Parts: sequence; structure tokens; C-alpha cells
Amino acid sequence: MKYDFLIVGQGLSGSILAIQLEKLSKRFKIINSYENNSSSKVAAGIMHPLALKRGTISWRGKEFYNFSKDFYTSFDELNETNYFENHKLKRIFSSFEEQNNWIGKTADSNYEDLIAFNNLPIKKIKTPYGNGLLKKSHRLNVKDFLQLVKNKYRKNIINENFKSENLKIKGKIFNYQGISYQNVVLCQGVGANTNELFSYLPIIPNKGELLEIKSENLPKLILNSGVFSLPTGNNLFTLGATYNHLDRTYKNTLEAKEELMTKIGKIVKINDLQIIRQKFGFRPTTSDRKPLIGEHPLVKNLFVINGMGSKAVLMAPLLINELLESIFENKQLDKLVDIKRFVKKVNSQTIQSVKKISEN
Ligand SMILES: Cc1cc2nc3c(=O)[nH]c(=O)nc-3n(C[C@H](O)[C@H](O)[C@H](O)COP(=O)(O)OP(=O)(O)OC[C@H]3O[C@@H](n4cnc5c(N)ncnc54)[C@H](O)[C@@H]3O)c2cc1C
Repeated sequence: MKYDFLIVGQGLSGSILAIQLEKLSKRFKIINSYENNSSSKVAAGIMHPLALKRGTISWRGKEFYNFSKDFYTSFDELNETNYFENHKLKRIFSSFEEQNNWIGKTADSNYEDLIAFNNLPIKKIKTPYGNGLLKKSHRLNVKDFLQLVKNKYRKNIINENFKSENLKIKGKIFNYQGISYQNVVLCQGVGANTNELFSYLPIIPNKGELLEIKSENLPKLILNSGVFSLPTGNNLFTLGATYNHLDRTYKNTLEAKEELMTKIGKIVKINDLQIIRQKFGFRPTTSDRKPLIGEHPLVKNLFVINGMGSKAVLMAPLLINELLESIFENKQLDKLVDIKRFVKKVNSQTIQSVKKISEN
């Protein structure tokens, strides 16, 4: 039996790809080795179109936002789930300069449906420089979303470690463990760094740590003040996240816990907060801060989806749709995400790994 696609990795990228392939009636298998600290499994799942620190619309922010909102809403409708939630988000300003910048933006027509300024105090929260409202903000319950995708496609999921040396190409067809595939898409997150086929790509693991806390006083909306607090029900909140591209250790750290508590302590009394647990994961980030999407420069029909950084929930649905349009409708990928921009980095290791999988 021949499949249209082999998807490697069932994080957010692989899951979203599978959903889109099903819509196109394509036949696929997914191979994934499940581990608790994959980036998607720990992600808070926050999605909005703003770069909050600067108070500006993020790169292609509105376009991504509109596509993703429709994508997750129709996923929920189809599956009778409620994984994509609306949340109000309040930005706590760190200076009058930031407040002024925000007020200025509210007069800009590009921002009028996005942000508002109101200086009403938030109960039990210190806001010496005021706060602004982001009207378009959501949270995807990523953990449950991934679990549902896993259950939905369980007959087509192989639960094991993918080894690129076991992939073979004969003519235009791939073979992996005796099964034939027309296309292979690697959606491995930072796991891609152990895959020689794409090891020339600059995927930089950026460790993020989160705290799950209990509080009677934090408001039931997303607060962002350099650190975010996200209500997850029953007085529980996710507090996050740290960014550290130097620490590659597979463990929670005291430094991260202290950093998060110090930051949240600037806006709320920390005596009220009870730490329940700490989590870590590694975001797949890139040297130019743009995702990595496209076809292998030496192997036709071998693709990669990676480098979603801290905005996978926002960006992945549209970028994956664009990859599929490039495959089936010959449309051009956005040059800023296309891995063609790194073609000069292809090295002898890449060439050797391609030779290994190519059969005569
Ligand atoms: C603390 C933290 C908070 C975050 N919060 C947010 C947020 O609020 N909003 C947001 O949009 N993003 C957030 N992110 C970022 C987001 O988690 C990532 O961008 C996204 O999850 C990447 O998804 P992915 O599918 O590309 O990679 P991953 O999630 O890393 O998935 C890759 C999958 O491939 C599997 N895999 C890898 N190699 C192999 C192999 N050889 N064989 C088999 N399987 C393999 C892995 O086990 C994994 O299941 C956060 C990240 C962290 C760490």
C-alpha cells in the first residue's frame, strides 16, 4: 500500500499538517516518539497578533491570526471540543513611555480593532503606569488538542523514534520500514538537530520554563507584564515563560523559578501564590527569527516544517497551508520562511546523509 505522506513528529506542526492533509483527502502515516518535554506539550498556547513588548503588530500578524482563528474554530466545531478559548489580555505597562506609545496606537486605523486603552485599575494588581487591553487574544489547549489528534489518527500513528538512515528513496518513492510514501515531511522541532538530512539548518533550542500556580487574587484574564499569567481554571494559572538559549539541561531550574516569581512579584503580592509544579521545554528557534519551511535542496518531495519559535499556535496553520499549496498548486512559498535562504549552508554531512538514503 502506498501513502501520500509520512509525517515525522506529532507536535503542533505535525498535528496541524495531518488535519490539513485529511481535509485534502490525502493518505498519511505519522511517526512520533512521545516525550513529556516536547515544546508543544509544555506550550501555554497563547495566541494573538501583537508583539507585546513593542506594542506593534507582529510579522504577518493579522493574516496569521485570521487564518488560525478559523482553523481552530472549525476544528472545535468538527470535533465538538472547546480547545480554542477567547481570553481578554491586559498589558501592564512598564513605563509612561510604553503607555504613550499604546495610546498613540489606538488612534491608528491598523490597530483600532486590536487594542484599547483604559486605565481602570485591575483588582489586587499593581499598575503604576496603567494598562492596555488587547481585544484579540486566545489560548489553544495544546495538550488536549495533541491528544485528540493522536486518538483521531491512532491507526496511522507509529509510536517510535524515526531514524533517517532507515529512510530509502527509489526513483521518486520513499520507503520506510517496508511502507511506500510519495512525500516525507519532517516536523521534529528541536529533535531535527539529530537528523542529518536537515542538520545544516540553524535550529536553535531555546529553553522555556513555566510555573503552574494557584492564586485567589490573580484575575481571570491573561496578564502580561514581561511575564504572563494565564488562567486555566479552578484558581490555577500558568506563569511564564523564561527564554534561555544557553541552558540545554533536561531539568527544571531554580533560576527560572526565581526569575518568574520576581517578575510576577512586581505586580502582585507573591505570598498569595502557591507553586504547584514547574515545567520546561525547548522552543525550536532560528538564527533569523523566521520559521523554516520547504523542500530539501537535494531530495525532491522531502520537506521540513520547523522553527516556529514562540508563535507556533499563531503561525503554523497558515504556513502549513502555504506549504501544501506550494506542493499541490505550485505556488511560491514566502521567501522569508523558505529554507532556500540557507542553501549555501548545505554541508558535506548533508550530502553524505542524502547518499545514504538514495538507492540505485
Ligand atoms: C515554555 C514554553 C512556552 C510556550 N508557549 C507558547 C505559547 O504560548 N504560544 C505559542 O504559540 N507557542 C508557545 N511555545 C512554542 C511552541 O511550543 C513551539 O513553537 C511549538 O510547540 C513547536 O512545535 P513543533 O511541532 O514544530 O515541534 P515539537 O513541539 O518539538 O514537536 C516535535 C515532535 O516530533 C517528535 N520527534 C522529534 N524527533 C523525532 C524522531 N526522530 N522520531 C520520532 N519523533 C520525533 C517529538 O517527540 C515531538 O513530539 C512555547 C514553548 C515553550 C518551551
